[in-house]
Order: sequence, then C-alpha cells, then structure tokens
Amino acid sequence: MSVIVLVEHTGGVIKKKNFEAVQYASQIAKKAGTTVTALVLGTVTETEMEGLGQYGAQKVLHIADARLDEFHARAYSSALVAAAEKETAKIIVTLHDIGGRMVAPRVAVQLKAGLVAGALSYPDTEKGFVIKKAVFSGKAFAYVNILSDTKVIMLMPNTFPATKQEGKAVVERLDISFSEKDFVVKVKSVNKVTGEVSLADAELVVSGGRGMKGPENWGILEDLAKELGAATACSRPVADSHWRPHHEHVGQTGGTVRPNLYIAVGISGAIQHLAGVNGSKTIVVINKDPEAPFFKAANYGVVGDAMEVLPRLTAAVRKFKE
Ligand code: FAD
Repeated sequence: MSVIVLVEHTGGVIKKKNFEAVQYASQIAKKAGTTVTALVLGTVTETEMEGLGQYGAQKVLHIADARLDEFHARAYSSALVAAAEKETAKIIVTLHDIGGRMVAPRVAVQLKAGLVAGALSYPDTEKGFVIKKAVFSGKAFAYVNILSDTKVIMLMPNTFPATKQEGKAVVERLDISFSEKDFVVKVKSVNKVTGEVSLADAELVVSGGRGMKGPENWGILEDLAKELGAATACSRPVADSHWRPHHEHVGQTGGTVRPNLYIAVGISGAIQHLAGVNGSKTIVVINKDPEAPFFKAANYGVVGDAMEVLPRLTAAVRKFKE
C-alpha cells in the first residue's frame, strides 16, 4: 500500500518543484510505514528517473508512451489511476500547479477519493487526516480532514524545500492502454517561454503593475531583473492589456510564486494579487502612493516614482556586484 506521486518533466528534465512533491510524499509514506512510488510519463532518461531516489522515492513507474511527452490531462489522469491501482496506493500526491489542477480532481473522482487542493502541511494523523490549506486568497487557513479511504493531496509548490540525499530509485516499466478519448485534446503548437529565468522556479522575482504605465517602460524593470538574475512577473491588468504575456500574471487567477525576494513595482496590492505572492520570504514594494495597500504586506517599502527608483536601484545593484 504505497504512496504514489505524479512527477512531471519538461522535455525530459524534472524540475525542482517535483522533487518537493516526491520528498513530501516520502515523508508521508515513512510515517505510514510504507514506500513511495513516483509515476513518470513520456520520454525521460533512466538516470533522471533514478535520481528521484535522492528525494525519497524507492520506485519509479515509467509509462514510456511518447504521446505523453505532451501534457494530456485525460491521459495523465488515466495513467495515475492505473498506477495507483497497481500499487494499491491509498494516498496520491500531485502538485497544485497547472498540470496538477487538471489531473488531481479527475483522479479523485475516478477513485472516489477525498481531495485537498493547495496543501500547506503534512497530514496530521493524530486527528484523522487533517491538512492545512489557505482560503479566501490567503487571508485565512482551513484545516481539512479527508475522511475517504483514498486521499488525493495537491501540494502547493515552494512549501517544503527539497533536500538531496543519497539514494537511487528502481525504475519499472508500466504499460497501459489508453483510449482515443484520452488524447481528444490536440496540442497544435507550443509557445516556449523565452524568459531568462523560469517564474515558477525563481528565487528572485521583479514584478510590475499598472503603475509602470505601459509596455514601453518595461525595459527598466527588465534591467533590474537581469542585474539580479530574477524572473519577471506582472499583475493581471497588465497581462489583460497585453503589456506582458499571460504566463507572467501572478495572483488568484494566475501563477503562485514563493521566491526569497519579490519586488513589486507600481502594483497596488489587491487581495487577488497578494494571493499569488504572499508566501514570498521578503517583499519589497515600490509605489508612489504611500497609502497603497501593498505596503501593509511589505518587509521593505520605497515611496517613489518607479521611473526614477528602478534605474537607481539597478545602478546600486550593479555597483554592489563590482
Ligand atoms: P492598479 O490597481 O491600477 O494599481 C497601480 C498602482 O501603481 C497604484 O498603487 C499606484 O499608486 C501605483 N503607481 C502609479 N504610478 C506609479 C509610478 N509612476 N510609480 C510607482 N507606482 C505607481 N489581479 C492580479 O494581479 N492577479 C490576479 O490573479 C487577479 N485575479 C483577480 C480575480 C478576480 C475575481 C478579480 C475580481 C480581480 C482579480 N485581480 C487580479 C485584479 C485585482 O483586483 C486588481 O485590480 C489588480 O491586481 C490591480 O493591478 P495593479 O496593482 O497593477 O493596478
């Protein structure tokens, strides 16, 4: 009765947040006196999969079907259900990211399992199977007890940092037959994100809001990001106005980031924006309005015009690095 965890990859490379999920699952398994099996789909090298042992996976189930190189929510869900049944897993872990949000609910329905989205804690088994999660855009916490026999947990990325240990997972091939319906959604094209640093994995983020006035001013924000080695993000109206691409939009309806440093430039700090960034370790706010709500959530604040503050900050960082 192992714990099973879905591990995604990008072009054969497994990203940091998946190591967090594997380690999280392995801690749960350890407490339950069982093992953790990772499910990997599509084309990935043996070495990459064995490496999951460094985060606590004893076994990797690999479905090598090349159609799974592209994300297909239905096929991924069928694969996870099949793997869970094979392993008689009662606990299934995914990430609370774009993929996880499409797969986990489908799996929970098929396995008649209770589900907790956005998990922020390990299950407290003293009181049942209680998991902490944020509600009302991060303004409060709920403690959810999963009563069903089978449980699905969607772990919030960047909640528990993954640490490498010695270990090598055993890779076992799993063959399942998919139905045509599993691939009913056709991927027509893939737009690669060209930013220097991927937002989801970034330790430093520089983010701009409507206070940047227009896309023509983004150069000074990108200069700072480049100098810091940071990823760039934005508020929703900025993405809605096509000043920046949608994958940079963070908040309740966008991505969630938990970097070490989040610099918010010309962003008011609406609750829906904070929902995606309030897990950041340090928040710096640059806003010309001293009454901007974001200052209440900030560790450091600069009251000033972004057009003046940004170039000076970039110059200061450059000087500091010399
Ligand atoms: P504004 O609210 O217009 O704020 C601009 C800020 O820039 C102001 O504080 C101003 O003082 C400052 N400023 C102006 N000029 C300068 C200058 N020269 N220098 C420095 N500062 C300056 N928003 C999100 O971001 N993410 C979400 O996921 C999201 N989801 C939502 C979901 C729902 C259901 C709803 C209803 C709303 C959602 N929103 C979301 C929108 C959210 O409520 C806010 O409207 C939005 O975050 C505001 O964006 P902003 O701070 O960039 O713009």
